[in-house]
Amino acid sequence: MNRRNSLNFSGGPGVLPETVLQQVQDAIQEVPGVGLSLLGISHRSDWFAAVVAEAEANVRKLLGLGDDYHVLLLQGGATQQFSMVPMTLLRGKTEAAQYLHTGYWSSKALPEARREGPMQVAWSGESCGFTRLPVDSELDFSAQAAYLHYVSNETVEGLQFQRVLGRDDVPRVCDMSSDFLSRPCEAERFSLIYAHAQKNLGPAGVTLVLVRDELIRDITDDLPGFLSYGVQARAHSNYNTPPVFAIYVTLLVTRWLLHDIGGVESMDVINRCKAATLYGLLDASDGFYRGRAAPQDRSLMNVAFNLRTAELEQRFLAEALAAGFSGLGGHRAIGGLRASIYNALTLQSVQELAGFMQDFQRRCP
Ligand SMILES: *Cc1c(COP(=O)(O)O)cnc(C)c1O
Repeated sequence: MNRRNSLNFSGGPGVLPETVLQQVQDAIQEVPGVGLSLLGISHRSDWFAAVVAEAEANVRKLLGLGDDYHVLLLQGGATQQFSMVPMTLLRGKTEAAQYLHTGYWSSKALPEARREGPMQVAWSGESCGFTRLPVDSELDFSAQAAYLHYVSNETVEGLQFQRVLGRDDVPRVCDMSSDFLSRPCEAERFSLIYAHAQKNLGPAGVTLVLVRDELIRDITDDLPGFLSYGVQARAHSNYNTPPVFAIYVTLLVTRWLLHDIGGVESMDVINRCKAATLYGLLDASDGFYRGRAAPQDRSLMNVAFNLRTAELEQRFLAEALAAGFSGLGGHRAIGGLRASIYNALTLQSVQELAGFMQDFQRRCP
């Protein structure tokens, strides 16, 4: 079996740039200029303070984010944010928060919000099997809502919003875990953005939260310190021992995005080209490959598709794996097939997969 990291189409944790993996390997032995292993450096060292400062600065630069936002590096994954958001913004409130129910991951956020306060599902795609996203005429955003929460890219179903939703006078909260820094996102129109690292940005263990200061400034929450945005912000993401390894790798990925790729606009051009390669192939396959998402809502990150039968899908997966392509199975919740083409997956790798898919179709009349 000839498997290569560059052919890892997994939905997450995702592929990382080769140059980053090489630097991490070296840093596990000895961080340049420090003389210690990355795994044994104090989180109270000047070196680590500089790592956090540069990671923050790089994210600000990539998104054009002003000083009125905190950039937090937290633990607990996106799942902890499903709770931390309503704990902070909904507890004790009488006005409901509005949530969009557009797929697997947004549905995980709903019960956590209900636990904390009034919550209203503003739209649900359940009745159409989460094969499309809402159009504006189906949405009624309340001016009184505590906030609006949605997921920008539904990783499992392969659905991605191509516009910013909601009203400018209601705080927007967005889970961007699977498309963060993959394209420009008008970050300053959001009051809070969260994204764990392990899809597009680094290894599991760190979650980025960008939060507008005014959203949390006057809140006198009674939360455990670990779960308080204010406490975490005042501690500069160093409240307790942070995941130094995950944060360092994330820093290297932000450097790669800035210096090797040239920023999120350039990343977006590459990502569009990758997605067009695969969707073009699906559309030209005479129904052999069947795209799951409605064409107007197709994700640039996760290309979910089916074959005629489950048996054929199993054969596809086995032959793909033997040819070196890994991670192409759909999420366990819905099955089928899915090619995740996160930032670090190269256009060349996508073209190689497309070649394999065309060949597979020729062999399966
Ligand atoms: C993968 C994923 C999650 C789950 O994140 P954890 O870090 O495992 O809690 C949440 N939201 C989205 C959009 C995801 O893709």
